[in-house]
Amino acid sequence: MATIKNYINGEFSLPIANEWIDNYNPANGEIYGQIPNSKKEDVEEAYKSAKSAFRLWSQTTLEERSRILIKISELLEANIDRFAEAESKDNGKPISLAKAIDIPRAASNFRFFGNAITQFASESHESIGQQAINYTLRQPIGVVGCISPWNLPLYLFTWKIAPAIAAGNCVVAKPSEVTPMTAYLLGEICNNAGLPKGVLNIVHGLGSTTGQAIIEHPDIKAISFTGGTATGAHIARVAAPMFKKLSLELGGKNPNIIFADCDYEDMLTTTVRSSFANQGQICLCGSRIFVEVSIYEKFKTDFVKKVNALKVGHPSHEDTNIGALVSKSHLNKVKEYIAIAKEENGTLLCGGNEVVVKGFENGYYLEPTVIEVTNDECRVNQEEVFGPVVTIMPFNTEEEVLAMANKVKYGLSATLWTNDLKRTMKLSSQLQAGIIWVNTWMLRDLRTPFGGIKASGIGREGGFEALRFFTEAKNVCIKY
Ligand code: NDP
Repeated sequence: MATIKNYINGEFSLPIANEWIDNYNPANGEIYGQIPNSKKEDVEEAYKSAKSAFRLWSQTTLEERSRILIKISELLEANIDRFAEAESKDNGKPISLAKAIDIPRAASNFRFFGNAITQFASESHESIGQQAINYTLRQPIGVVGCISPWNLPLYLFTWKIAPAIAAGNCVVAKPSEVTPMTAYLLGEICNNAGLPKGVLNIVHGLGSTTGQAIIEHPDIKAISFTGGTATGAHIARVAAPMFKKLSLELGGKNPNIIFADCDYEDMLTTTVRSSFANQGQICLCGSRIFVEVSIYEKFKTDFVKKVNALKVGHPSHEDTNIGALVSKSHLNKVKEYIAIAKEENGTLLCGGNEVVVKGFENGYYLEPTVIEVTNDECRVNQEEVFGPVVTIMPFNTEEEVLAMANKVKYGLSATLWTNDLKRTMKLSSQLQAGIIWVNTWMLRDLRTPFGGIKASGIGREGGFEALRFFTEAKNVCIKY
């Protein structure tokens, strides 16, 4: 049994009330560890530790902060196998994916913000004719809260923590209770990298208690949250009257729009990935596929053939393309959506069933599922399923597909496949989303603003946007 502890003031501690939550291995459905069921008192301890570290950390030189962040990055890289195994076991994702994407990206997050902070500058404005000069300070906020989801556990956890501490803040962080393991292991790496005690504090537990205590805390002045839209709305309701700074990265229901003039093979391979990577549990997955009518039948045949060739299997097997879904309850939710799609006259082109993996019969495996729909307003086309399920439907004109693409409450990302420049420019400008990919998917440059519009959230992460979020601007005007 693996016992996870809280990481407070550089030490590993038991939850004050000594209450625990079971941690499941999605690949076999068995309990393999316990995590603290932390309460308000634990969050208070973490807050106090962060507060006492703040003065010194906020005065630490940028070179020194940068050095420590880059050291954390190097130690993550040196421990990639251990972290990838832990992530795969906790989340059910193929170990090959954790090794190729999740852990390298977590390391990149620290390296990137370790470098970015040394380049982060503020503005100066000379008020000509008024004999005055203005300069703007970018000061750390103090103690900030970072709350992350289970789909890309360490990747998203560090995407928040790295800019927060780079900017001179101290952090109280909570990973998802469903996938706490790599966040736990990160504590040891931070100690070995020389991160001063209290700069990062990690408290494990349920969203409704531990998470709630963070968002309600009167002196945690900013919350960076990634998770579901309903949780984001709740956090906004709690935090807004306390005037906390908020960054909310929420759900998506992203269109993948395919025109006949695209590079077909490239589109086909990428569309399989953008549909089913990480079991379809990525907020950026293109779960609504719209295909120009002239290539629709060909696409349907080719796509289904490729999807049927994906191997569902144990996450530790090297040839597994699709691992286990993260939890039993999530598997049930995804299955419910498949049933709803059928009730709403969707046609199942492939998948739809649970998979029994030999030797791991109680794991949460589901076939990659493609559903043909005739009405873009059906529930499976409007609501976030967040699993290995995509819909496909044909379209005739740019106007028609644009209207369908925008007719959802979400606005996170959109993918466009075409070689027509005018069409690219027009649709990129008119699609309602924070991120548009043209002839690619999930190609990331960490300098770019990342985030959604509409019900996909508020605020942007990435690059200097993240450093701006984690600092307060203070303007100083000097008359001379
Ligand atoms: P949830 O919203 O359920 O949870 C996210 C985090 O918030 C978890 O750590 C959770 O804890 C915590 N939480 C839950 N309730 C509260 C509360 N009252 N106060 C404070 N914290 C709370 O999302 P999931 O973990 O299910 O993640 C999936 C969702 O995340 C999807 O909707 C997906 O689209 C979205 N997402 C968005 C991304 C983006 O960048 N826009 C990227 C990745 C995912 P606990 O686990 O204990 O419930």
